[in-house]
Amino acid sequence: MDNFIVSARKYRPSTFKTVVGQDAITATLKNALRTGQVAQAFLFCGPRGVGKTTCARIFAKALNCEHPSEDFEPCNECNSCKQFNASASFNVYELDAASNNSVDDIRALVDQVRVSPQGARYKVYIIDEVHMLTTQAFNAFLKTLEEPPAYAKFILATTEKHKILPTILSRCQVYDFKRIKDDDMIRHLQYVATQEGVTADTEALRVVATKADGALRDALSIFDQLVSFTDKNVTYEATINNLNVLDVNQYLDMTDRLFSEDPTAALLKFDEILSKGFDGQHFISGMAAHLRDLLLSRDEVTIPLLEMAESLIPAFREQARKLDRLLLMRALELCNTCDFNYKLSNNKRLSVEICLMQINANYIYKLKQTQAAVRQSRERSI
Ligand SMILES: [Zn+2]
Repeated sequence: MDNFIVSARKYRPSTFKTVVGQDAITATLKNALRTGQVAQAFLFCGPRGVGKTTCARIFAKALNCEHPSEDFEPCNECNSCKQFNASASFNVYELDAASNNSVDDIRALVDQVRVSPQGARYKVYIIDEVHMLTTQAFNAFLKTLEEPPAYAKFILATTEKHKILPTILSRCQVYDFKRIKDDDMIRHLQYVATQEGVTADTEALRVVATKADGALRDALSIFDQLVSFTDKNVTYEATINNLNVLDVNQYLDMTDRLFSEDPTAALLKFDEILSKGFDGQHFISGMAAHLRDLLLSRDEVTIPLLEMAESLIPAFREQARKLDRLLLMRALELCNTCDFNYKLSNNKRLSVEICLMQINANYIYKLKQTQAAVRQSRERSI
């Protein structure tokens, strides 16, 4: 373990094309380099772990690269790129506003901006978590942002765009980073696995991607944890156990029970899930996601919206085929409401149980209606 470097750092992209899942943004940034119309200030917004700082660094490097590729990628070979990659660049500054948010920190930065770049075209300032700056610090910064020297470029990054003052927003070109799609994440994890000589099931990686909820950095650290836990053999079983994730089979089983004539079956299953240490809300939001997937799997057109392993789709199709669409929609609505109100409930277990009982009661009611209708039409035909 002496030379162990966490994957998120080891596989941090150093060119635009290796950035995962942000193609629209990297294309626009490269286009700005191509046309030479580079704004003075940028604001990168989006959830954590989706590549904002990574893109800011690549862009900063590309701005000063002496021999960018035809495609405007940084060459990673010129002096400027080398200095940057060794974290020794005199022309790129990074400030983490989460820990340096005082007016003095910003004044020090502003003083810096006045000094021309050394042996490069631009001085680039990357300010991470910019929403953490104090109001005073924001105001001190605003002046510089209003009239920066031509060689200064600012890249601000934030997870909380709504906290950025309108005066700052209006001076920045805003880029909205999206959460990374499961499929993009899985592809990247697979690449890392191959590089590291790790065997990993696609289904296992899908569980990791779901757990990471769009944040690649989280996915990679979960992956590292699994690799050491499973001794480089990341199976679906081991992943489910290690991450304490509710297996898709549990949801398939619960659905069968919810839409059955036995009103106790779902309640017993829920008790079993709780006794394994799972959280009620975790279960109910997973149940809602499962019902959504069932609804989508009813139609070929919506199948691409499912973010799941190919091998699982037949099981979903099969279950969805047996169920009434309106009942499914009503069940989804009930789970969603339960999830929404969960935190406010005084008896959380009961609120989930009521939800499950309602879904089952709707099913039984509909079943009785259908049976009565069949009986009536039979009687009429006699
Ligand atoms: Zn270069």
